[in-house]
Amino acid sequence: MIALSLDEIAVVVGGTVAGDGAVKVTAPAVLDGREAEPGGLFVAFAGEHADGHDYAGQAGQAGAVAVLGSRPTALPTVVVEDAQAALQLLAAHVGAHLRGGLTVVGLTGSQGKTSTKDLLTGALSKVGPTVATIGSLNNELGVPLTILRADASTRFLVIEMGARRMGDIAHLAGLIPPDVSVVLNVGQAHLGEFGSRGAIAKAKGELVQGLAAGGTAVLNADNPRVAAMRALTDGRVLTFGRAEHADVRVRDLTLDRLGRPSFTLCTADATASVVLPLVGAHQAFNAAAAAAAAWAIGVPLELTAAALTTASISKWRMELSELPGGITLLNDSFNANPDSARAALDALAVIEGRGIAVLGEMLELGEESETEHHAIGEYAATRADVVVAVGEGARAIADGAGSRAEALPDNTTAIDWLRRTLAPGDVVLVKASRESHLDEVAAALSPE
Ligand code: ATP
Ligand code: MG
Repeated sequence: MIALSLDEIAVVVGGTVAGDGAVKVTAPAVLDGREAEPGGLFVAFAGEHADGHDYAGQAGQAGAVAVLGSRPTALPTVVVEDAQAALQLLAAHVGAHLRGGLTVVGLTGSQGKTSTKDLLTGALSKVGPTVATIGSLNNELGVPLTILRADASTRFLVIEMGARRMGDIAHLAGLIPPDVSVVLNVGQAHLGEFGSRGAIAKAKGELVQGLAAGGTAVLNADNPRVAAMRALTDGRVLTFGRAEHADVRVRDLTLDRLGRPSFTLCTADATASVVLPLVGAHQAFNAAAAAAAAWAIGVPLELTAAALTTASISKWRMELSELPGGITLLNDSFNANPDSARAALDALAVIEGRGIAVLGEMLELGEESETEHHAIGEYAATRADVVVAVGEGARAIADGAGSRAEALPDNTTAIDWLRRTLAPGDVVLVKASRESHLDEVAAALSPE
């Protein structure tokens, strides 16, 4: 955050100040008062159950010096009608102020955003101070909060952007037009809201249309809908993938006993070997996307490759652990949709041992839901020895998996079943949409 007084913030967001307008905000904005840093701004929303404005005192104790909200609070407050819109205006203002010294990378796609963002952030952090989206905070609140974490010392800003509706990405990219726009893939995430893959492609393409002047689009050469987005910009385009013509090409991809990819990244004039400490072939492509984005801003391939080899990603995303009793756990309980479920099942299939896929409901699939769950069940039966479908919403997975299926009503029965059934050498994949809370199953299997 750049230092701004409340009077200055009020002008930027079109609000009024209740309290001392000379108070200066010097630290990032937060939505949870307990997370405030000294000098920070607490953004208060009135929710259905709790009113954030009532927590201004608590935010103050944590260090917040001011509030952005819709009524005066215990702290000096910039009062606005719509705190979300005001937060975005503030982020756009701060972004524009810092723009000269910053290189901004925007990332979108149906899956792999967070993985790629983490891989890229690891590489860029070796080159200069880098601020990136925390976790998956990729929406209309997460993006402005990320921008507001940047300050004059920040050199790279890496922003994950998610879309639920047409126009979302255009709006987010408009807050701070990216120098590099990375589009990973167009799949089925949020198919329910968008209606068709064509519509999803259009929504993701908004990131390419939103490029800053002179910016570079980084596109997946293997995904025709993404590759076609080169038509959306007059600027530079770099592609990544397995395709022969990709600018950053993945070659000689193999997976080790635990499903970790080794491969070579090639550009026209450089080659580098990478061994990723992550699970699944798809991570090789996320790594290639990260390398292409880094290359777009002048980071040599060799440097990125070295950083990738020591990479780590956010928790619950294909998190591999070896449990006591000779059991391997692949915790992918952060989220699920049909494409990422297939990728996870592919990874399970290549790990030696009896494969047990513990799958829960995939949400937000709209009318296709039943069919998609059934299809995932069928697919799982080709990749796993046992398919454990957890919860009512996963019923169709069990139907699809046929004789390999074990349908269990809830997490508790799933945990009991696993404890009774698991044997040395087993490999357990746990995957579902976040709201299914299958992380509880993974946690129950893991030692304290
Ligand atoms: P979200 O929309 O939930 O923020 P995301 O796009 O940030 O998702 P990740 O969190 O990186 O994606 O990964 C989500 C899931 O998709 C994980 O199960 C991961 O293993 C899988 N995944 C990651 N990259 C790919 C890919 N390139 N192709 C298919 N599946 C992938
Ligand atoms: Mg994410």
